[in-house]
Amino acid sequence: MTQRRSTSLGPGRILGIIGHPVAHSASPAMHNAAFAAQGMHAMYGAFDVPPSHLEKAIAGIRTLGLLGVNVTIPHKQAVMAYLDEVAPTARQVGAVNTIVNRGGRLIGYNTDGWGFLISLEERGVRLAGKSAVVLGAGGAARAVALHLGMAGVARLTIINRSRPRAEFLAADLARAKTPVRADVAEPGTEEAGAALAEAGLVVNCTPLGMDPDTESTPLEDVGILPVGCVVYDTIYRPLETRLLREARQRGLVTVNGLAMLVHQGACSWEYWFGRRGPVDVMRTAAMAALEVQP
Ligand code: NAP
Repeated sequence: MTQRRSTSLGPGRILGIIGHPVAHSASPAMHNAAFAAQGMHAMYGAFDVPPSHLEKAIAGIRTLGLLGVNVTIPHKQAVMAYLDEVAPTARQVGAVNTIVNRGGRLIGYNTDGWGFLISLEERGVRLAGKSAVVLGAGGAARAVALHLGMAGVARLTIINRSRPRAEFLAADLARAKTPVRADVAEPGTEEAGAALAEAGLVVNCTPLGMDPDTESTPLEDVGILPVGCVVYDTIYRPLETRLLREARQRGLVTVNGLAMLVHQGACSWEYWFGRRGPVDVMRTAAMAALEVQP
């Protein structure tokens, strides 16, 4: 009798993303393509977990012996309560997007800001001495602002619809002892206009412009931005938002959110496997998942 080879992956080889909804995530395609390209016997799935089931899902990582997971909307903050340890940067950001299971001990990290910085470096954007403006004060804005502060921008202004949330972020940046002191403004005010008029980098961290609401924009008149300003949109559906289209038409350098998505995923590998994920393979797979041509 011939012996059948087991097709089970065994513990410690299964990963995934926890979110709600999560069906349209590009992460499974991105990570599974990377495993295949590197001949790794591992699998990455999408787990749709409603908020009421989050605690049980996190316990399931230990019970089932998953190697780790990514975490996305709406769980990035709430998940922190169910982990054994949260790394200092993730705690400063106030959100976890990567969990690693070390022998049943769950540790949370945040790679969003790291992915953001690498995506700028990849485009040759130098941050030291720049005046930066962050639009929004939610989860993405917190990661972006903290990392801009750590990367040595000269000035940082947070423009947000609700001022208290922006003030809360500015206070957290001060507590994290980032070298820059952040200013706060509401959209459409004189302070906001002044910051935008001298910005070297503007980063949209609001969902304004995201599919299906593609005609909305966080900045009604890009004409206010100076020549040479880099306009970054963390949105990647669509790849060119109205903000980026108008900035490009004005001759400004534009960066979309795809590179941040790819690099935050590649950085998660550092915690799971001790090395960075293969960025080119992951980018191609993410683009195919988002159905865009290279
Ligand atoms: P969030 O925590 O819900 O924060 C949303 C922010 O946008 C808040 O500051 C909110 O202002 C503001 N906002 C929302 N609707 C607005 C409106 N109609 N007018 C003005 N401001 C509005 O969301 P998030 O997790 O930070 O995500 C924000 C964006 O980042 C999303 O588009 C997401 O796709 C993108 N993102 C991209 C990546 C990547 O890898 N590329 C990673 C993470 C996030 P209030 O404080 O006033 O409510």
